[in-house]
Amino acid sequence: VETRQPVWINDVPGDPNWKHMEGSEWIRSYLGAPILIKGQVIGFLGLTSAQPNFYCEEHAPRLMAFADQAAIAIENAQLYAEVQRLAVLDDLTGIYNRRAFFDLGQREVERALRTMRPMCALFLDIDHFKRINDQYGHLVGDEALRLIVETIALKKRASDQMGRWGGEEFLLVLPDSTLESGRQMAERLRKAIEEASLPLAGGGSFSVQASFGVAGAQVSGEGLAQLDRLILQADTALYRAKQAGRNQVCVHEA
Ligand code: GH3
Ligand code: MG
Ligand code: MG
Repeated sequence: VETRQPVWINDVPGDPNWKHMEGSEWIRSYLGAPILIKGQVIGFLGLTSAQPNFYCEEHAPRLMAFADQAAIAIENAQLYAEVQRLAVLDDLTGIYNRRAFFDLGQREVERALRTMRPMCALFLDIDHFKRINDQYGHLVGDEALRLIVETIALKKRASDQMGRWGGEEFLLVLPDSTLESGRQMAERLRKAIEEASLPLAGGGSFSVQASFGVAGAQVSGEGLAQLDRLILQADTALYRAKQAGRNQVCVHEA
């Protein structure tokens, strides 16, 4: 770790630096190289032999070259995993973006079909959000969106999936939920958002309200509604909630 250089031991039992571990009594010689990513040691590649003096100086750069290749592969895998993670998340709020949410929702539809359980889609849109931006500025608007997402996250069930559909529009799919329990959940979220106090940097606070549309699907003779149809129904109900004066929940009646 200190030198970031390979180390070899010709005679393990006689080396004062060797830490004996159970099961390693047979080891007589050792060659190790650090695996380095951006100069940080993230692991070691170690070779052991039952013969003393098995490794010599010329082996060290070869093992180091191998460890460097391993480091590149590990770093690539880490970068790939990070890109995958970022590709499904919304930058601002950290919840699923539209595409990822749709994939997840589709899986929930399939699960509901398999298990013959009802499910709900819940669409919400912050009321008059443009005014928040106009009054306090975009950064405050951004922070408000983050806090609204946190508020929802605290109220929803762990199995409910949430995504950002667009600007100030969010969608949830509620597995194992009847239309009535979906409506009740929407009502709880509506209240929680209304009651959340959103702080202003210079002191003081403000609050926002949201309108909700809920649509439910139940396995029936013709099967379950597809996710896009469910979302459309929830969106239509949301539109009615806006028309009826906002800050309320409307349900799609089949
Ligand atoms: P309504 O009650 O009809 O929904 O009114 P509204 O003002 O919320 O609706 P409208 O669709 O006219 O405007 C949405 C606003 O949301 C416009 C835009 O400035 C704001 N917005 C969308 N995305 C973001 C964002 O990421 N950050 C911020 N700060 N504002 C956003
Ligand atoms: Mg909107
Ligand atoms: Mg809005």
